[in-house]
Amino acid sequence: MISPAPTGSDILATPLDYAALSKEELRRRILRRKDELDAVILGHNYQRVEIQSVSDYLGDSLGLSQEAAATEAGTIVFCGVHFMAETAKILSPGKRVLMPDLRAGCPMADFVTGPALRRLKEEHPGAAVVAYVNSSAEVKAEADICCTSSNAVAVVESIDPDRTILFVPDRNLARYVQERTGRDNIIAWDGYCYVHDDMVLEELAKARSEHPNALVVVHPEAREDLLEKADEVTSTAGMVDLAGQHDAVIFGTERGLVDRMKEQYPEKTFIPLSGAAVCGNMKLNTLSKLAWCLDHEEYEVELDEEIRIRAQQALDRMLELSGGWSPPTEEEERLELAGVRPSGCGCA
Ligand code: SF4
Repeated sequence: MISPAPTGSDILATPLDYAALSKEELRRRILRRKDELDAVILGHNYQRVEIQSVSDYLGDSLGLSQEAAATEAGTIVFCGVHFMAETAKILSPGKRVLMPDLRAGCPMADFVTGPALRRLKEEHPGAAVVAYVNSSAEVKAEADICCTSSNAVAVVESIDPDRTILFVPDRNLARYVQERTGRDNIIAWDGYCYVHDDMVLEELAKARSEHPNALVVVHPEAREDLLEKADEVTSTAGMVDLAGQHDAVIFGTERGLVDRMKEQYPEKTFIPLSGAAVCGNMKLNTLSKLAWCLDHEEYEVELDEEIRIRAQQALDRMLELSGGWSPPTEEEERLELAGVRPSGCGCA
């Protein structure tokens, strides 16, 4: 049951009008309106702190989508990027999914479109398609199975070794998987995450010279030359584990994770490999846009049902392979409260 929108002078016309209100007033409006709408707010780990502070759940894209599917609430407000809100809708077809800013897309996901992938499939009949979760619903619908950076190796290993694999959209993750599995029949899409791909050797060398005893851990979305110089290559889930085991770590991933780890382990030395590793798309969501979104009940994410069903099949195959989804363990709850949930997909 969806409540009526607020009326009269209470509702403002544009996000800019909301931006003139104080943070306290915005928070008050958001929390009140969230209750009126029977909504939950899902905040990705890399959202602004102000967004995280009003979120009911914090986590990575897949974890949040699974929270969305599990919640009783009828409306989900997804503060992340577009493919994440789509994933929530894929797994929660009966719920309304809103996002505060439609421009919050993922440039890596945008590298591949449904029509372009269909053309590649026509050139390689019989090939299996593996789609990183950082992809649109239309692309997932074209895939045989999805993967995260945590399970990409296991997903690829589950496919007949003689079958060609089309891996989309991240070329860096594809190359990493190729090396780990020893397969020579993976055709990688030429996409990348600019946040990870922009990290360069000079930054790594500088961080190492300033912190010679620190472990260097790099996300597989980074370039090959960087991975070769790393002490460890792992997903953000793996990074969270390593943060618990080492006193000094240089992290080659989005800064948001590093800041969260610093909060969790204030006594340790955690350094971002690159100070510039910030995803601007994630930061497009603001409190004022969120307040506007709730008052105006915009923007709703809608999917063609046939695409949604096919995309869900690709996600379900991945979840089955990784043992399905279960509620967070005590340790995961603790990390979630700290803003880091270690299920480990692309930008989380
Ligand atoms: S961090 Fe990279 S993969 Fe994640 S939303 Fe930003 S551009 Fe996309």
